[in-house]
Amino acid sequence: MEDKFVSTRKHFILAISFSIVVIALTEVATFAYVQSPAGVKWEDFRLGKFFIPLGVNITTLIALLIILHRPNVRDIVKNYACVISLVIVCTVVVTSHHDYPVLLAVFVVPVIWSIVFEDKFLCSVTHLLCQVGVLQLTVSSSILTKNNLINMDADNLADRITDFLKSSPKGVITGEDILRISVETRTNTLWVNIILGIILVATARLFGYLMLLQLQKKDSILQTHEKDNMALEKQLLRDQMTGLYNHTAFYEFLDRCVKMKGDEPLTLAVVDIDDFKKVNDTYGHDNGDEVILTLSKIMQAHCGADNYVCRYGGEEFAVIFPNSREKEARQIMQNILDEFRNTHYDWHSGSISFSCGVFQCSAYRMNAEEFFQITDKLLYKAKHNGKNQVCGGQ
Ligand code: GH3
Ligand code: MG
Ligand code: MG
Repeated sequence: MEDKFVSTRKHFILAISFSIVVIALTEVATFAYVQSPAGVKWEDFRLGKFFIPLGVNITTLIALLIILHRPNVRDIVKNYACVISLVIVCTVVVTSHHDYPVLLAVFVVPVIWSIVFEDKFLCSVTHLLCQVGVLQLTVSSSILTKNNLINMDADNLADRITDFLKSSPKGVITGEDILRISVETRTNTLWVNIILGIILVATARLFGYLMLLQLQKKDSILQTHEKDNMALEKQLLRDQMTGLYNHTAFYEFLDRCVKMKGDEPLTLAVVDIDDFKKVNDTYGHDNGDEVILTLSKIMQAHCGADNYVCRYGGEEFAVIFPNSREKEARQIMQNILDEFRNTHYDWHSGSISFSCGVFQCSAYRMNAEEFFQITDKLLYKAKHNGKNQVCGGQ
């Protein structure tokens, strides 16, 4: 089956590469911004906030490129690899900036991105991974902040200390108390942020689910339209009575075959039932129809699926042979004539025949009209020579 997500994955690679560059540049810009007011040194910043995250992101990107370029990897695995690599990049951003829980919102991005692959299970997996990404901050944050200066809202900390002093019988506060209060405060705000992060990602998942349903609905409408179009096209190109290709289809195919003609031989046969007016006048129009239907069936049975059997007029037929020489086509038409004139009808004692002209398109560039006219002349030659025969140009 054709893989419709090849270009989507290319776009994905571009997007993720661009994001990694933007993240790295933002880190440097953030450092430049916090350096002077907070007195952060590059030595303290570079490893945890710059080199390690950048290293993990680039490794993820390289691994993704390897997976996507492997011909033996299944397409669905490639789609999963794309989305999982994005979840990894988001986890790196969130973990390296655990003191900015607002960044948890980035987990919405993979959840939304997963929709483009139109795979319900992939969307659910992404949602789950993103929720794990949000929750892992509880662990990574407590590990990474251990023995570190704890960043928190100064007003909030001041309030807590005031409360402590009010309730403290001694009226003094120790360093240990400050550390404990700040850890408690931080844990409280972290939990609020994590719960908000979970709600945010779940909302994105709901939005993604609705989008996916919409996409699938659109797909099924398109498929129905395509089927309707095919049925309509078939109706437009087919003759209602015999099911053969009609007048429009015949000229269309002939033109296309002549224009696209390469080294393969192209041969045309045109057929006209002999003295058909008499059949109609003597035996009635319905019996005349029976003759037309009989000839249609014989022609279809002899010509096979590679050739175009057409009814381009009332009792006029044509066969386009896009791969046969005149000799082969003439033989086929002769076999059809033999079977047709030997057909017995309950209402008719004699034999009904046709005349046929067969011509192979010559090497020089002739157009469809010239090709048809030459073949038609051969048909009239057959009529002129006494009907009931196949007349070729060679
Ligand atoms: P010739 O051998 O020279 O071809 O003589 P002909 O009588 O067959 O002459 P012509 O080819 O001009 O006749 C065509 C006749 O075919 C005229 C028309 O009444 C009849 N015809 C055309 N379409 C139909 C059809 O769908 N059903 C029936 N029963 N007759 C048709
Ligand atoms: Mg005719
Ligand atoms: Mg005729």
